[in-house]
Amino acid sequence: MATASKGVQSKYETVIGLEVHVQLLTNTKIFCACPNVFGSQPNTNVCPVCLGMPGALPVLNRQAVDFAVKASQALDLQVNETSIFARKNYFYPDLPKGYQISQFDKPLSEHGYIEVTAASGEKKRIGITRLHLEEDAGKSMHEGFVDSDSKTYVDLNRSGTPLAEIVSDPDISTPEEAFEYLTRLKEIVLYTGVSDCNMEEGSLRCDANVSIRPRGQQQLGTKVEVKNVNSFRFVRQALEYEIERQTELLDSGGAVVQETRLYNPGEGRTYTMRSKEKAHDYRYFPEPDLLPLIVDQARQDAIRATLPELPEAKRRRLIAEYALSEGDAATLTATQARADLFETEAKKAKSPKRLANLLISELQGRLKAAGLELEDSPITIAGARFSADLLDDGTISSKILKELYDHAFEQNVDFPVIYEKEKPQQITDTAEIEKMIDEVLASSPKQVEQYKAGKTTMIGFFVGQVMKASKGKANPAVLNELLVKKLG
Ligand SMILES: [Zn+2]
Repeated sequence: MATASKGVQSKYETVIGLEVHVQLLTNTKIFCACPNVFGSQPNTNVCPVCLGMPGALPVLNRQAVDFAVKASQALDLQVNETSIFARKNYFYPDLPKGYQISQFDKPLSEHGYIEVTAASGEKKRIGITRLHLEEDAGKSMHEGFVDSDSKTYVDLNRSGTPLAEIVSDPDISTPEEAFEYLTRLKEIVLYTGVSDCNMEEGSLRCDANVSIRPRGQQQLGTKVEVKNVNSFRFVRQALEYEIERQTELLDSGGAVVQETRLYNPGEGRTYTMRSKEKAHDYRYFPEPDLLPLIVDQARQDAIRATLPELPEAKRRRLIAEYALSEGDAATLTATQARADLFETEAKKAKSPKRLANLLISELQGRLKAAGLELEDSPITIAGARFSADLLDDGTISSKILKELYDHAFEQNVDFPVIYEKEKPQQITDTAEIEKMIDEVLASSPKQVEQYKAGKTTMIGFFVGQVMKASKGKANPAVLNELLVKKLG
């Protein structure tokens, strides 16, 4: 496909909304006692309820509700005291009941937001319309069997797995904003611990709605849904592709068709999957087998009390406490485990700021060059803290620290290991150090005179000179003590 020129693209405005499905980490499924685990033998975690047998009745999992409430609170959504389960009717081979239990006009929570950085560099709030609870469907398997060319298999282990569906407002204007919204959303949900957000295993899935309209037009353009994109990077690519495709269509006088499309990452393009259903096609009605869901204020408060410090609050605090930049704070809080590890070591460090600086300046650069994450670093955060302390009390110079970091990366060992192996041989012999002090004092009569006249800061000059003479090997503590004694 030809690339729509920037000029043509600037005539149109993009409107993106995202729907994210997050699998909740409950022990059992949402309406039955079957285990909620990934990777079992097909069709082993099933029972009459999740197989959709006639007459089987759903029983709501309390933990699933608590988790969805917790995620709602973390995303600044207002939890409705009363929400209603509804039947969403459609036929699909992996949906044996012929309907999915979801929520429709009275969802669990509404009106939240996530902040992203707009192209202008300013903060921008992306509204979250709603979060609702629903059950997952099973899984059709189109490949992996000898007769896959003629048959499709179905695994119903996933049928009835609890999902939180998080729907954004159509506030997203660029693929870049979509990418950041998803990154922040995943980060927040991970911090709450209600999902592992593992995209490879499908515990976080994303559908994107995208439309374009001529700038200045109020009415939204016809939207296309891109379904089941399995990485945030692909979501961004799929959106970039769709924006171009739709721009070219409109600009050449054509019309966008409302439909669902699939993204093929290998080819970098989207394909028509099916024409898009509208809400009324699903014939929603209240689920007669479940009572309205009540989550009263006391229960909401109890759940709120279990919320951890969330990523944004943590970033603000780290920026204030350790004088970090926005970007550095983002790096150190990318996962909760990383942030916790940093703070544990920062509390032990002689200078927490120095530790933060080393992690950002010395460690990040080397990790980037080696294509590694902080979690895979040969130098651990604890090892970096050890090196920061050595630097802080003058045992090693920053030049030596850099060398030791290089060697630690080359040999794939932590800092204390390389330090033990290669630490500069220190001179602690007082006679030897005294001799060097004498020489320095003898060759600097002017400075000695200044010192004796009261300019005690000259001591730094003498320390430096002796260090130089010893090639950095004189023990700083011994040197200081002898020097003070000599100068009287
Ligand atoms: Zn079951």
